[in-house]
Amino acid sequence: MLCPKCGFNSFEYNTNCPKCRKDLRSVRKQLSITATKPGAVNFFSLLGPADEMLNQTIRPSALPDNQRSGL
Ligand SMILES: [Zn+2]
Repeated sequence: MLCPKCGFNSFEYNTNCPKCRKDLRSVRKQLSITATKPGAVNFFSLLGPADEMLNQTIRPSALPDNQRSGL
């Protein structure tokens, strides 16, 4: 959420600008932003699938047999 008054970039869920205390709720209503405060549960559930995808990409056993014993 970019403050229209002072230009301070704060979190979307802030109702007031932490720098100049401008009410950001009216601005958010104009932009139709429906952001909620992120929780610890959401944070870890986002990390899980991404980590699994990374492991699948770099797993050596994914190589075909003829590429591993071809030499
Ligand atoms: Zn501000």
